[in-house]
Amino acid sequence: MADLDFIRSLTKAELHLHLEGSVDPQTLVKLSHRHNVPLPANGNNYPFDPESGKVLTDEDVRELYQYKDFIGFLMAFKAVSQRLRTPEDYELITYRLIQKLANQNVKHAEVYVSVGVIHWRGQELDPIFEGLERGRKRGLKDFGVSLLWIFDAVRHFGPEAVQRVFEDAVRYRDRNVVGVGIGGDEVRGPAEWFQRQYAYAKENGLRLTAHAGESAGPESVAAAVNLLGAERIGHGLTAIADPKLLQELVERQITIEICLSSNLRTGCCANLESHPLRHYVDAGVPVTLNTDDPEMFGTNLNHEYELAQQSFGFSDQQLAELARNSFRASFLSNYEKERLLNTWAI
Ligand SMILES: [Zn+2]
Repeated sequence: MADLDFIRSLTKAELHLHLEGSVDPQTLVKLSHRHNVPLPANGNNYPFDPESGKVLTDEDVRELYQYKDFIGFLMAFKAVSQRLRTPEDYELITYRLIQKLANQNVKHAEVYVSVGVIHWRGQELDPIFEGLERGRKRGLKDFGVSLLWIFDAVRHFGPEAVQRVFEDAVRYRDRNVVGVGIGGDEVRGPAEWFQRQYAYAKENGLRLTAHAGESAGPESVAAAVNLLGAERIGHGLTAIADPKLLQELVERQITIEICLSSNLRTGCCANLESHPLRHYVDAGVPVTLNTDDPEMFGTNLNHEYELAQQSFGFSDQQLAELARNSFRASFLSNYEKERLLNTWAI
């Protein structure tokens, strides 16, 4: 049995978390009312057309978040993106995210913002970023949770779109943007395309992450590490198929950001029995537990720790080690890491 009190008491950091996937149903309903526009004649598709301006009810959002497949997940993600319009919207969702993190005893988070999607939708980033920063500052003041931004690009949009996102990250480097990442379709946007962009980000002092090995094979993880220089890998499920690669991850202490509920809900992993988490821990690969898109996957960080303990039999000491890993693998300065680890006696 998982010891919930112990899990709640663990001080944690979260390193793989998408802002847009943290929008809870109540907030989505609120955003929907904020941008009240008439329902078009063709509304109400599956479960409604996310492109429509329909004002969502509690019932709609419940239905929306109970999707059964990857298409349903994309519809939910679209519906949220469509309702994120003003700087105030971004301020609201950031503040609410920090409030929820505080409830999970999270003291530090590194949060992906889908800047690639903001560009694609033709939105102006600068005012949105001001909203993000207002939310971050208010959250830090009210809940004591520190937050750094990671600008996330969409790999299947190609190198130019990725370059634009990374240039924005460089522009905001001194305003809590600590790193960059790529997500999306690994097969339609292979790592080989982005070597120049990653080198540019690194030269400009940014830290490097990449989603890899979620829906493509171990070669995708190897390319993210060796060609892009990724310091942390999101998901990394398929790395288990290549023992040499695993050895390299151990030697170079490259962290895999594990997202159990996400892997189940997107179907990337059929069940937890076949999930490589335990194997990675036993092999000495640094791993952290994360929620990815917590509201869309119906999870929170304490639940991820609970799942890990129930499904893989981790001891309390091992869970505490995973919590320590979440600080060690963060992009905080060594001084700040030590300070947090000591302050909370983690
Ligand atoms: Zn992710």
